[in-house]
Amino acid sequence: MIKVFDDFDLSARNTFRMKVRCRKFIEYDSAKDLETLDFSALPGPVLSIGGGSNLLFSGDFPGTLLHSRIEYVKFFDLGLEKVPVAVGAGVCFDFLCAKMCAEDLWGLENLSLIPGDAGAAAVQNIGAYGVEFKDIMTGVSCYDTVLKQKCSFKREECGYGYRESIFKKPENKGRYIITGVMLELSRKPEPRLDYAPLKAAPAKSRVLVEARLAGIQLVV
Ligand SMILES: Cc1cc2nc3c(=O)[nH]c(=O)nc-3n(C[C@H](O)[C@H](O)[C@H](O)COP(=O)(O)OP(=O)(O)OC[C@H]3O[C@@H](n4cnc5c(N)ncnc54)[C@H](O)[C@@H]3O)c2cc1C
Repeated sequence: MIKVFDDFDLSARNTFRMKVRCRKFIEYDSAKDLETLDFSALPGPVLSIGGGSNLLFSGDFPGTLLHSRIEYVKFFDLGLEKVPVAVGAGVCFDFLCAKMCAEDLWGLENLSLIPGDAGAAAVQNIGAYGVEFKDIMTGVSCYDTVLKQKCSFKREECGYGYRESIFKKPENKGRYIITGVMLELSRKPEPRLDYAPLKAAPAKSRVLVEARLAGIQLVV
């Protein structure tokens, strides 16, 4: 379903809490919704917004902001060590990290507490404590606003570098709307503790991690 808001207040939609408005704000909850939009009729520029934590509005936005409410998390657990997980672009990334930890699936734990949505994570190649989004993702699903059709990219096609991807390139600005990401998590506990500040973490934290790996519940 699509919801359209005119002259929309963005103050709760950007983490700087800038008191700004946009001409049009559109929320959608499926990739199919995007196919029904007439992009040429929307006030431009047309830009995607996730949690608004990496955007700084210096004034009212004259165009259209698109916001994903595609919020599924689907597991493809075949009893193997690697577990593919499909995630909608509108899922809160930190919620996803917590969910994977609760499911005993390894790979995202170092990225806990990074603000924003899963779709933007694929744009930004977010990273923390020696792990980057690209290390866990296998592909993205998009809507191509130029060819007006769905498309997908494998990890190696996304041009990932430090906080970099093809989706950030000026020539692609606004072209690809990310609708979902495909991840591969691991059932095998493989904590990444090689990042220098983690190595220097207090012994207590390391004992907690090791106890968790051994299945021991510590009361602290
Ligand atoms: C306190 C704080 C701590 C942070 N810590 C880290 C950190 O440790 N590591 C790190 O890497 N980053 C960090 N960041 C940056 C931020 O969390 C990331 O850049 C995050 O990916 C932004 O997500 P968002 O949903 O808020 O994106 P937004 O700010 O809404 O958008 C970011 C960009 O992605 C585009 N975009 C958003 N959704 C889509 C979509 N569905 N399709 C296509 N394009 C889209 C937007 O157009 C924009 O260009 C931090 C930010 C804050 C405020």
